[in-house]
Amino acid sequence: MALTGLQIQKLLPKTNCKECGSNTCLAFAMKLAGKKAELSECPYASDEAKQILGAASEPPVKTVSIGENKVGGELFLYRHEKTFMNQPILAVNINDSDEGIQEAVDQIKGYVLERVGETLTLGAIAVTQTQDDQAKFINAVKIAAASGRPVILRAKTTAAAKEAATLIKENGGVISGVVKDSADELAAAAKENGLVLAVAGANLDEIAEVTGKIKESEFNDLLVMIPGDSLAQRFQLNTVARRAALGNVKTMGYSFLRFIPEGDLYSVLREATNEVCKYGGVIVFPKFDIALFSTLMTLRQNIYTDPQKPIQMEPGIYKIGEPDENSYVWCTTNFSLTYFLVTGEIENCGQNAWVMLPECEGLSVLTAWAAGKFNGDMVAKFLTTQDIYNTQKNKSLIIPGYAAQIKGDIEEGLPGWNIIVGSQEAGDIESFVNSTLK
Ligand code: SF4
Repeated sequence: MALTGLQIQKLLPKTNCKECGSNTCLAFAMKLAGKKAELSECPYASDEAKQILGAASEPPVKTVSIGENKVGGELFLYRHEKTFMNQPILAVNINDSDEGIQEAVDQIKGYVLERVGETLTLGAIAVTQTQDDQAKFINAVKIAAASGRPVILRAKTTAAAKEAATLIKENGGVISGVVKDSADELAAAAKENGLVLAVAGANLDEIAEVTGKIKESEFNDLLVMIPGDSLAQRFQLNTVARRAALGNVKTMGYSFLRFIPEGDLYSVLREATNEVCKYGGVIVFPKFDIALFSTLMTLRQNIYTDPQKPIQMEPGIYKIGEPDENSYVWCTTNFSLTYFLVTGEIENCGQNAWVMLPECEGLSVLTAWAAGKFNGDMVAKFLTTQDIYNTQKNKSLIIPGYAAQIKGDIEEGLPGWNIIVGSQEAGDIESFVNSTLK
């Protein structure tokens, strides 16, 4: 349960020594309550304070690392309450009985999607043991581990899981399907090899019993595998489990691991969409499918973008092709989607161009203009601070059609420059270029 600033202050030394950077212990306590400071910033915090505040400041959903990625750490049931924190890892399953395991691993490792300036990849490889031959499973795990990606183990036996765990400790990964009977042995294996455990059960009570038991053994890097016979049931149980976690039910305070069952494109898409939207932590696809990944990665990127911080580009001047002093200067806002749409269209026209993005807090053109963050004065001033301002022979600045109203103010701020009003929509840039610039 979160503590108030006053409750936290009672646990602090109350000497107001200022070493934490706050003027008083109370001010520091208020920062702690608002999660704007860490207790470690007070060098004099007692062990009691560390213990109490440590437990109170634990997020309701445990954050765990799987390779370089983190999952969990969530604080809200609905994204619009603030934001979701750590996006789910997308992984692909390989069966130990599959032909061409090496090719499948190479394909997974080679998949990269560039979208709005982010490089998106598949974050893990799952290996499922489908037959009793443990050596075949181990061989498949070795091939997956050699990729360097975290590996998710779905073994048939505890012995196979334990042997495979030793092979993936460099990568990080997950031992899945942990139940009451295997909990002790697999918790020890996970601890020894720095892995995460994913707890399974027939229902939420059974899962909670096992997570509680493992937590008592001082191991807490866990995921849970929510059961359910239908999509509707899984949607419901995911919500019930997350609501319980946020209600401080510690035995449910974990991110989810979900193996999507094989099916046609739409059934896999439905299941995966449910997981992306409803709190999935690690989502394992039954097979490699580019159409699914690009769709789900786009959805994931939108759900896990902080709604209060639009995806944005660094303000500055960007090059399209090989621009020089005779190239046009285009101006738009630093909202990433706008930038990528506009630059894509300019590129398609075969133009070498400078693209100028003043600081507009990542807002789109109309929103920034309406909010007074994209105005003639600031656009003009921004250009005068850039190197190209002094070197351009072609003193032509193209502004978005939706911001035509700022043309006059820019002209005042940039004497000698020709301010051209471009198209309103990025899709009309080509006809604008053909009709006006050629
Ligand atoms: S460093 Fe600790 S004791 Fe000093 S003012 Fe900050 S909270 Fe108080």
